[in-house]
Amino acid sequence: MSDTSPFLTDSRADLSRAADALRSGDIVALPTETVYGLAADALNPEAVRKIFEAKGRPLLDPLIVHVADIDALARIAVVDSRLSKVAAFWPGPLTVVLPRQTCVPDLVTAGKDTVAVRIPAHPIFREVLRLSALPLAAPSANPFGYISPTTAEHVRTSLGARCPLTVDGGSCAHGIESTIIDLSHPSRVRLLRPGPISTEQLEAVLGPLEVVTHTSAQDAAQDAPGMLERHYSPKLPMVLFERGQKPPSLPPGTALILQSRRPTTPSHARVYYLSEHGDCVEAAHGLFALLRQVDQQHHSVIIVELAEPKGIGIALNDRLRRAAAR
Ligand code: AMP
Ligand code: MG
Repeated sequence: MSDTSPFLTDSRADLSRAADALRSGDIVALPTETVYGLAADALNPEAVRKIFEAKGRPLLDPLIVHVADIDALARIAVVDSRLSKVAAFWPGPLTVVLPRQTCVPDLVTAGKDTVAVRIPAHPIFREVLRLSALPLAAPSANPFGYISPTTAEHVRTSLGARCPLTVDGGSCAHGIESTIIDLSHPSRVRLLRPGPISTEQLEAVLGPLEVVTHTSAQDAAQDAPGMLERHYSPKLPMVLFERGQKPPSLPPGTALILQSRRPTTPSHARVYYLSEHGDCVEAAHGLFALLRQVDQQHHSVIIVELAEPKGIGIALNDRLRRAAAR
């Protein structure tokens, strides 16, 4: 079913309406600096259930809870001294898994004794946190497994009437989901999902990270279900190749996505560039929007060049590999 109700704006009246809807237990799509989130009152299981229903998300996939500041964070998670080392990345695209406080419903944590928390930077999201005075659970505002939304229009196209209220905040600055680290073990720090805050940045303050990679859906379900091998997926088949290499053979109807402009490109493929000059930050910002665009056209296959594996390029490659997994 298509839905053409107008988006809410960042006006005071519209943001109050969004906050009121959240306080009444409804779901609202909101922009964040990573991707658009589908938000609900994190302490209200009935509200949180609506997120899972709208997305078709499995109940064993825990949600990230967004809060305004460290005081609000300490009400839902058990804070330890290592948190002060990563607090410099907040507000921003970093999620931390910590032991939970008892007020957090099982539905949010998939029954685990830990909770994932983040202090987002987007001014609209922050204003709605302030007006609602709620911690907000918010996964990406898209059907489970599909490409994450980076504009309000993406939310409308993929969720339609399943998400009656969306605040339009333009396109998301980072364009990929937050970095997730697990600080729930007293002596280990694990990287659960690479993202805009790079491994290098985190290791500079925390020391060496243990990188978690999941090879099977079953492993993933036990630990960090959002890390399922297949995720962020277009409908068309997708094939990857190493940066700077010649692309593999290009069947008719190929959409070829390159990290930067090349002097010569094959004439029989439609060529797209993630960045003119191979800037990974720019590439991440535009990746999901380009995948959605290409996925809606009459292509037979999407062939994508991997990024240079450093900084945010590691997160970019992680999303590309999951999008290509079948
Ligand atoms: P999404 O909301 O789609 O960005 O996904 C959030 C992801 O955060 C989940 O799918 C998990 O991978 C991870 N996550 C959330 N809560 C926990 C937790 N308590 N323990 C481990 N990982 C978590
Ligand atoms: Mg998601």
